[in-house]
Amino acid sequence: MTDCMFCRIAKGEMPATIVNQDDRYVAFRDIHPHAPAHILVIPREHVRSLNEATDAALVGGLLLFARDVAQAESIGTAGYRVVLNTNGDGGQTVFHIHAHVMGGRAMKWPPG
Ligand code: AMP
Ligand code: ZN
Repeated sequence: MTDCMFCRIAKGEMPATIVNQDDRYVAFRDIHPHAPAHILVIPREHVRSLNEATDAALVGGLLLFARDVAQAESIGTAGYRVVLNTNGDGGQTVFHIHAHVMGGRAMKWPPG
């Protein structure tokens, strides 16, 4: 989608601090980090949110890519959180499905 910010990042049309990418996924640092490590993982394919996802391989691959990002950030063993905010009450503000990978400090539970 041309008017989607995360599609534009995936295409290299908008700057981002990319930490890893392959033919299906892109991981880049959140512009407003809420933890010492805060990375977003997106599929290159535009999917509005988890509600619209139909491809189990795409969603499963997103989680495994997030896991690999956490390992590369050296937060895998200490622990980290993977979050998919979905629609308004879920706190989603960018409507291209993305996983937040957060770590580098102890996460609080429950989240607000
Ligand atoms: P959500 O609220 O779950 O939709 O998360 C969207 C996230 O995208 C927020 O944490 C924003 O800080 C982050 N964000 C928005 N624009 C950019 C951008 N251009 N580059 C990196 N992160 C961004
Ligand atoms: Zn998009």
